[in-house]
Amino acid sequence: MICMNFILEPNWSFKKGGAVLKEKTLEKNGSRRTFLKGALVAVAATGIASTVFSSKEKETKSKVRWGMIIDLQRCTGCGACIIACKNENNVPDGFVWASKMNRTVGKFPNVRYEYISTLCNHCEKAPCIKGCPSQAMHKGAGDITMHDHTKCIGCRYCVISCPYNVPTPNDRKPHKSWRDNKSLISGVTSSPAEVTRKVKGNVIPYYNSAIEKTYAGIRPKGVVEKCHFCSHRVKEGELPYCVESCPSSARIFGDLNDPNSNVNQILGKYRSWRLKEHLGTEPKVFYVRSFNAGNYKKTMGSV
Ligand code: SF4
Ligand code: SF4
Repeated sequence: MICMNFILEPNWSFKKGGAVLKEKTLEKNGSRRTFLKGALVAVAATGIASTVFSSKEKETKSKVRWGMIIDLQRCTGCGACIIACKNENNVPDGFVWASKMNRTVGKFPNVRYEYISTLCNHCEKAPCIKGCPSQAMHKGAGDITMHDHTKCIGCRYCVISCPYNVPTPNDRKPHKSWRDNKSLISGVTSSPAEVTRKVKGNVIPYYNSAIEKTYAGIRPKGVVEKCHFCSHRVKEGELPYCVESCPSSARIFGDLNDPNSNVNQILGKYRSWRLKEHLGTEPKVFYVRSFNAGNYKKTMGSV
């Protein structure tokens, strides 16, 4: 097992969907696990005992506290989680719910690239909820920080209150592009509105109506929106879509209240850290290990 310490330096840039300016992290490297999805979720490999949960059952029966771990060593920085989230949740152009912080540090030849995948931290002591005067921002099943667009008055107190830059005001007419009559090459390519009509859509193409079960499918102009841990999927015993779509299983989701859960087993094995921990918001998104190719032995082109 390789062990190393890694300190993130200041001056991270802010991006929508979550960011941080300054963090100190310490972590231990270790072996990898495999996350399996279904009614059963098991963590295999490295000799760790399997964990089983049915999220649907648990949410109704007991106090579940959903949380996520992002294993930065597994993360390749491909951005699949960002695209998957947009696709699953009908997130409009112009902003994202799942995001990233990335930067290049140093001078050639001593250069390293750093990447941190982000989303709403679903903080236990969520400042966005405290800041919201209309109770639009609230805690839903499984302690997920939810937003009710029917109660939102668009005041943006949650935007100011969230230290992670997560809630995003939707200032433009959502999915305007699908109503646009302009084609890219006039007389040659179809306009977005034509495409919508061709798929017999009163709704936008690829619209996912499933999220209406727990969250507004398309959020109206003038209110905020944000990641909801894919509550519509979790309610059905499925994983958040970014977790499901990550090709390297870097995002791991489970019940923080269950001592045998996959997330608690990983937290027990690796030293974890959270964004802006010093603020006391108690994020439920944890990071383990580090994204740093420089930690690996240089092979100079050979395998
Ligand atoms: Fe609220 Fe921001 Fe925490 Fe999410 S990250 S729960 S929006 S304070
Ligand atoms: Fe997006 Fe769902 Fe992942 Fe949140 S949990 S970042 S809503 S895909």
